[in-house]
Amino acid sequence: MHMAVTASVPNNEVKAASPVEIEWPHASRPCRLTVLGATGSVGTSTLDLVARAPERFEVVALTAQSNAPALAALARLHRAKLAVIGDEKYLPQLRDELAGTGIRTAGGADALVEAALMPADCVMAAIVGAAGLRPTFAAASCGKRVALANKECLVSAGHVFTAEIKRSGAELLPVDSEHSAAFQALTGAEPGSIEKIVLTASGGPFRTWTREALENATPEQALKHPNWSMGAKITIDSATLMNKGLELIEAFHLFPVSVDALDCVVHPQSVVHCLVSYVDGSVLAQLAAPDMRTPIAVALAWPGRMSAPTERLDLARLGSLTFEAPDETRFPALRVARAALRRGDTAPAVLNAANEIGVQAFLNRRIKFLEIAKLVEETLDAAERQGAISAAQCLDDILSIDERARRLAEDALNRY
Ligand code: NAD
Ligand code: MG
Repeated sequence: MHMAVTASVPNNEVKAASPVEIEWPHASRPCRLTVLGATGSVGTSTLDLVARAPERFEVVALTAQSNAPALAALARLHRAKLAVIGDEKYLPQLRDELAGTGIRTAGGADALVEAALMPADCVMAAIVGAAGLRPTFAAASCGKRVALANKECLVSAGHVFTAEIKRSGAELLPVDSEHSAAFQALTGAEPGSIEKIVLTASGGPFRTWTREALENATPEQALKHPNWSMGAKITIDSATLMNKGLELIEAFHLFPVSVDALDCVVHPQSVVHCLVSYVDGSVLAQLAAPDMRTPIAVALAWPGRMSAPTERLDLARLGSLTFEAPDETRFPALRVARAALRRGDTAPAVLNAANEIGVQAFLNRRIKFLEIAKLVEETLDAAERQGAISAAQCLDDILSIDERARRLAEDALNRY
């Protein structure tokens, strides 16, 4: 199932329409937008764009997990209809903050789903981790545009999620910068004409570190990404290169290519985000300053374009762009993720769950940096030995393997 290319690129329409006609997909009225994970890095970047073009958007629902003051401030600023806090113990605080505003409030996991189901034209799915599965599925189920930042959803539930998108007729637009780049470079592509999709990786803060030095890398060091400002979980994933592994799996579900046609290359400047090679030898790349507001703007405005206040590229000043092969000895997460993708069935869901446990354990100083990938590999092996990896038919199958993999990872952690 290859939504981004097959379902979401109305190539002929783009070619036929005048620039004015394609300027904005909801030109006659504002785009009704819901943001799941509104207080996060992607969520606040999304709302920054909205604040700069208020006439183009009508904010429907905003959600967050625990930061009630930040959520309330965003809900007030954007005059949201509904504000939902995932952790119910902060609901009284959210209610106090929004008293007298007329903004409806709710709390708990079911309320996150309710937010995703509110009538809207576009849902930005920017919750981090498998916690985003149910709300993101809910958004997909009602046939609206899903701007997908929550890559863990495609990693864990790829086949089931893309089947749901197809069933409902929803439109899936990738927000991850590499996939947004691929999506743009694939415009007009016939599936058989694509030879390779190469995602770029910055290499993270430890690109040049020796394996010995990596042994003792601390959370503080891992949280210092050289190019991107992002939430903690994805920043750690970028340091281990698991992020690129998750992105290969994400790309597999988004685009009409085989596992063998997917690759990655380390590009420390993070200016080229993806390269698409065609059978005629052409390579199309997308370049942009490393600022998520560009891929977010693409997903919100496609097939039009909206302005984003990002730094403009000055190639003469940059001087050179460099590329190198990833080192899977120092960064084994990439190899482990690739193996899970090849194994198929629910292996990527196990990979994702174990990685979430591993990242949290590293941040809590329970395990060392290199033990994150080790924990993921051991959990995959244990799940395989127990016969726990099989085909998933529905979201509940994914949620149950996710839970089981978390237990296996916790068991393994106790032996570290
Ligand atoms: P973040 O940690 O900054 O924000 C996460 C958001 O999700 C917050 O609003 C938080 O309140 C909410 N949240 C956290 N746990 C939750 C839970 N259990 N239930 C409900 N809501 C919860 O994360 P981020 O960096 O914005 O990343 C969001 C997603 O986008 C991730 O899947 C990440 O991989 C993806 N992504 C992020 C970037 C980036 O630049 N930050 C780039 C590409 C992809
Ligand atoms: Mg990315």
